[in-house]
Amino acid sequence: MNLSFEALGLSEALVRAVTELGYTTPTPIQQQAIPAVLSGGDLLAGAQTGTGKTAGFVLPILQRLATQNAPAGKSRRPVRVLILTPTRELAAQVGESVRDYGKHSKVNAAIIYGGVSINPQISALKRGADIVVATPGRLLDHVGQRTVDLSQVEVLVLDEADRMLDMGFLPDMKRVFALLPRTRQTLLFSATFSDEIRTLAASLLKNPAMVQVAARNSTVDATTQKVVLVDRGRKSELLAHMIKSNNWFQLLIFTRTKHGANRLAEFLNKHGVTALAIHGNKSQGARTRALTEFKSGELQALVATDIAARGLDIEQLPHVINFDLPHVPEDYVHRIGRTGRAGATGEAISLVCADDKPLLTDIERVIRRQVPREIIAGFEPNPNERAEPIVRQRGQGKTERGQRDRPQRSSARRPSQGQPRKNGSAQPARPQSSKPNGQPVRNVDAYAKPKHAKPASQTRRPADSASTVRTNIPGLLQPSHRRGR
Ligand code: AMP
Repeated sequence: MNLSFEALGLSEALVRAVTELGYTTPTPIQQQAIPAVLSGGDLLAGAQTGTGKTAGFVLPILQRLATQNAPAGKSRRPVRVLILTPTRELAAQVGESVRDYGKHSKVNAAIIYGGVSINPQISALKRGADIVVATPGRLLDHVGQRTVDLSQVEVLVLDEADRMLDMGFLPDMKRVFALLPRTRQTLLFSATFSDEIRTLAASLLKNPAMVQVAARNSTVDATTQKVVLVDRGRKSELLAHMIKSNNWFQLLIFTRTKHGANRLAEFLNKHGVTALAIHGNKSQGARTRALTEFKSGELQALVATDIAARGLDIEQLPHVINFDLPHVPEDYVHRIGRTGRAGATGEAISLVCADDKPLLTDIERVIRRQVPREIIAGFEPNPNERAEPIVRQRGQGKTERGQRDRPQRSSARRPSQGQPRKNGSAQPARPQSSKPNGQPVRNVDAYAKPKHAKPASQTRRPADSASTVRTNIPGLLQPSHRRGR
């Protein structure tokens, strides 16, 4: 049954605000979460980004603030709602949603995250904030400076809780929980339900209502996924070719490292694709600028690391490219959640070389499906290319350097990847070859050994396989991109 926003019990001011944003029908997570949150109880919600989960908790919270007075306490205008997010971008985005949805309600919000001056945040808190949206590290900085008082919080929201744990925030989160009243409403949103999330939920939530809108670890159905097989040294060149021949715009590209993001953005710019890198070494100002240019369409491609991309809300992003596969399979789910959002369809393409095969196997295990393979004509992978170990750089898959709101991961549970492979024969995949315009032409077995191939251990990688490549793009030079830079 599809209820309208009014029928879900939301006030006229909130219905007006969402109508002005063009929302006509509540999304499935909103249908379930809004009544559950309005009832005042705890909630455990399984919802990926792109499902409309933010409105699922922000709207009923705004309703609560409007209809219930703050219990008498020491502050005149206390912080009544605390929303914790793993990243600055998500905090900014949730803060924006609070402002959008609350534009006809009398509510003050403060957005608190690191990497920017603390003073405007102190001023916002001094003016009185009913809602604080924060990353844990900077919030604790404010606690240390006594610029925020959390003793009257009525509602705690953990947004993307799985990601917060994954980023090692648990100790900081526990310090924050210790500052909150015991009696409160707690809402926990997570895209995936690991054992750690279940343990956290068991310790925080009392008789929670449970809602789930996507199967555990499933990828967004509206997204078409495919793997394009390619040699390690030709990924950049292939990507530039695909972007140009398909005339793609608004492309979000994921790399495993910050350095890799910089190099790829540079490569794309040199080859006529406007691109900027966004990662933890960039200032908040540079990140915001890149995002604004990307959203406005000035920028064709945004090259991002996982952490930087987390929380980016770009509506109807048509293409997500995994230039490198992530070490953590769940990151794949988060990455492709950037496309196919809010009813739109999207395409997630992973460029996979021999080294990536173990990561692909892990991802396919988690998403419980095989992603179709393709080969682009002119970029056929060398079946004898030997897999090389993927060198994990310090902090990779965990945090980005120098960010107070991104502590070191404490108890990472990672699949055993990045190990040197014993031989180079990645498992045979059954890819579809495609014409340069992306049309599949035949089935091939890209990594299947040729009949008389030497065992991988005896096969030397052609000396020039990463330095001399064929190209069918006029003027396109050999990419210097190599793994593990
Ligand atoms: P979220 O999962 O909260 O990040 O939301 C994803 C996107 O869906 C955002 O761009 C929202 O503006 C949009 N959205 C949220 N709720 C609705 C709705 N009921 N109808 C249409 N779009 C929505």
